[in-house]
Amino acid sequence: MTVARDSIVTIHYTLRDDAGTIIDSSTSGEPLAYLHGRGNLVPGLERELAGKNAGDKLSVKLAAADGYGEYDKQLVQQVALRSLRAVSDLKVGMRLQAQTQHGPRTVTVTRIAGDMVTLDGNHPLAGKNLDFEIEITAVRAATQEELSHGHVHGAGGHHH
Ligand code: ZN
Repeated sequence: MTVARDSIVTIHYTLRDDAGTIIDSSTSGEPLAYLHGRGNLVPGLERELAGKNAGDKLSVKLAAADGYGEYDKQLVQQVALRSLRAVSDLKVGMRLQAQTQHGPRTVTVTRIAGDMVTLDGNHPLAGKNLDFEIEITAVRAATQEELSHGHVHGAGGHHH
C-alpha cells in the first residue's frame, strides 16, 4: 500500500540537527504511527512520505520553514514572577501552558532574572533545519473511527 491521505503510516525515524547530533529517535523503542494528510507531522515530512511504500527508507532534509517554522521573536514574552506563583519549583527549561496574546499555548521558561520571567512560545525545534532518516515499516487504510477522531488507534497510537 502507498502512503496517501488517510493512510495510517508506521515509521521508525531518527532526527538530527545541522551538526549531526541526534535530537530524537524511535529506533530504541516502538515505531511511530500517524494518520497521514491531517497535519500530524510537520508539512515537509508528510510531503516527502506521500507516494512511498512500506519498506522504503528515505532521508529527508527540511529547512526550518518546512519543519517547526521559523523562530518568531514575537512569541517571546516577559511576565512578572508573581504571576507564576501557582507553579511550584519554577525553573529554566520547564514547559508550561500559558495564556498569551495568541491564545493558550505551551511555552518554555528560558530565563528567570529578579522578579521577571521570560517565556518562549516557539516550538523547541523552531528555527532549526531538520535531517530525518525514515524507514516506513507499515502502511494501512485508516478505520472510520480513526478518521472521525483524527488519530491512530491500536499499536503506536492513542488508547481509549
Ligand atoms: Zn480516538
